[in-house]
Amino acid sequence: MEEEQAKRKIDQLTELVLYHSKRYYDMDAPEIEDYEYDRLLHELIDLEEAFPQFAHADSPTKRVVGKVKNSFQPVEHKVQMGSLQDVFSPEEVFAFHERVKETVQSPLYVVEPKIDGLSVSLEYQNGVFVRGSTRGDGFVGEDITLNLQTIRSIPKKLPLPLPFLEVRGEVYMSEENFQKLVAEQEIREEKPFKNPRNAAAGSLRQKDPAIAAKRSLDIFVFNIQQIEGKSLSGHQESLDFLRELGFSVSPSYARFSSIEAVMEEIRRIGDNREQYSFGIDGAVVKVDSFAQREQLGNTAKYPKWAIAYKYPPEEKATVLREIQIQVGRTGVLTPTALFEPVSLAGTTVSRAVLHNQAFIDEKQIAVGDTILVRKAGDIIPEVVGVVQHQQGKPAYRIPDICPACGSPVFFEGGQAAKRCQNSDCPAQLLRNLVHFASRDAMDIEGLGPSIVENFVSAGLVKSPADLYDITLEEISSLDRLAEKSGSNLLAAIERSKQNDLSRLLFALGIRGIGQKAAKLLSAHFGDIETLFSAAEEEISAIDGFGGIMAKAVVEYFSLDATRHLIDRLQKAGVNTRSTIASQGDRLFGLRFVLTGTLPHMTRSEAGARIEQQGGKVSSSVSKQTSYVVAGEDAGSKLTKAQALGIPILDEQELLALLDGTFPQTSTQK
Ligand code: NAD
Repeated sequence: MEEEQAKRKIDQLTELVLYHSKRYYDMDAPEIEDYEYDRLLHELIDLEEAFPQFAHADSPTKRVVGKVKNSFQPVEHKVQMGSLQDVFSPEEVFAFHERVKETVQSPLYVVEPKIDGLSVSLEYQNGVFVRGSTRGDGFVGEDITLNLQTIRSIPKKLPLPLPFLEVRGEVYMSEENFQKLVAEQEIREEKPFKNPRNAAAGSLRQKDPAIAAKRSLDIFVFNIQQIEGKSLSGHQESLDFLRELGFSVSPSYARFSSIEAVMEEIRRIGDNREQYSFGIDGAVVKVDSFAQREQLGNTAKYPKWAIAYKYPPEEKATVLREIQIQVGRTGVLTPTALFEPVSLAGTTVSRAVLHNQAFIDEKQIAVGDTILVRKAGDIIPEVVGVVQHQQGKPAYRIPDICPACGSPVFFEGGQAAKRCQNSDCPAQLLRNLVHFASRDAMDIEGLGPSIVENFVSAGLVKSPADLYDITLEEISSLDRLAEKSGSNLLAAIERSKQNDLSRLLFALGIRGIGQKAAKLLSAHFGDIETLFSAAEEEISAIDGFGGIMAKAVVEYFSLDATRHLIDRLQKAGVNTRSTIASQGDRLFGLRFVLTGTLPHMTRSEAGARIEQQGGKVSSSVSKQTSYVVAGEDAGSKLTKAQALGIPILDEQELLALLDGTFPQTSTQK
């Protein structure tokens, strides 16, 4: 390769790998499969080896890429939390052994499964768990003690009051819990986590520990980072000791003196992958002796005394038996492939989502075809393509009739999705109800997907209005609900009657009407009755509304079913008036950006109050921004505002502005 071309390629790959690392480590939202990422990284490693002069000083091949969110306290790691050098073939395992032998004699190796989770450090003082943190960039991580405290398998007190102990482990989510979480996310129409690793990482990095507590996380501890009050000379001995202390240690670990036996163990773990109830993405080979580890040392990214053997993603061929259509809350028809069950990466799979007609057409998928399915690090299986197509059979067509209610379905304005537009469609009921009760809508605490499902299958609820007729006896007749939670639920349903109109409008699930649009409608019309007679032009004239949204609102309020539903809700005592309608126009014409944590209000409360006074709130700072309201931990928006010379307000100044007592000449901070 020409030098110039190599340089360009190195630049490109560096940027690409950093981008995907950010999505994966900092945002818990990867866009590509792990093996694709590994391929990119290894291409970069090879190029950097051939053209070291072009390697970037901060290349992701040389350091652990990860960031510390400034919403958590930073924790400095006294002992580096490195990554592992990964290898993909027996030859690379033998080469590792040769390298080790150059420095130490007769090494013994311990082989363990590599758990696919999130690396954490746990610190104990005098036997008490005092602090837990993420790996971060290997040198500085995030303090997530409160979230880690919710994990039952982390001992909070050790039977031996060692003066100090720091261990390292992998927090993971079992496949079963992951599947449950994704199913709930799908019903709530939230973006589901891509795999258990992202789910575990996303749960541990929540500000609210109650969320981590609900997610049933677990841990395997695999290393002692620091210890006082006990001397240990090797890895196997230390894992035995940790087990005695009550830690849940690596699910299997065995020591070997020959590299052939190591390779044998790697194969054994790989062959048994399916037996684990959690994801493993490889096997880790570690030099046992701590003295030898010391001699071998570390690079800035990983220890030289260990490697991770990565198993290739599993793909299997199977026969496509059926394509099932599911109808979502908004009526979108989603095709799912049902195939002959195959065992892949630890679980038996028999279904995979086929997304939309375009996906099916691209791969020319038809029932009866032999298809190739894959489950890589990701737990959600996917159809890779067709191995053998049935001669002369056209690709599957998503039907033109809704399978749940028989109404005609339509492609929407060039969109890939086909949608059933019948709002009474029973398939949409469950999702509609879950949405209706959700936190940002009517906020009926305790009315989650599984209870809604019980209500629906018992025939108790056929419309959101039925929720307000439900009795304690009816709730108690559903076996899963104890009396106390039944009355709590009734109380939450009762409370929801007082909600502002904007919540109800959002809860109704009118197409295209999100929380913000619902607030605008509520503030503008003030009362649901006026919406029944509102003209499309008046709605589309509201700033922030488009023609399509306005049309959807008019259509929705012209339906008899809507009139009937609102009548019933009103009869039940549900509020249909705006309590936060426009209170003035003091901030008319001004644009605000909110950033950081305000001392006494949430950002959305502050935003609502600005809007009540006619001001606008936007999410990014530009020259058009009139004020930036900054709280604690304000980030790049504050910096940008300072650079552009935009006035910055604190909470008190914002309140003064809302009251009209603030002098309209703000100073920059
Ligand atoms: P790694 O996950 O491959 O290996 C290091 C980690 O293994 C350690 O942090 C440790 O916590 C963990 N581990 C699990 N079990 C262990 C055991 N028994 N002993 C020792 N360590 C154990 O390395 P990494 O640098 O954290 O991440 C690389 C991985 O992340 C790759 O699989 C890569 O594909 C993936 N990744 C994917 C994307 C993407 O966009 N899909 C982006 C970045 C990284």
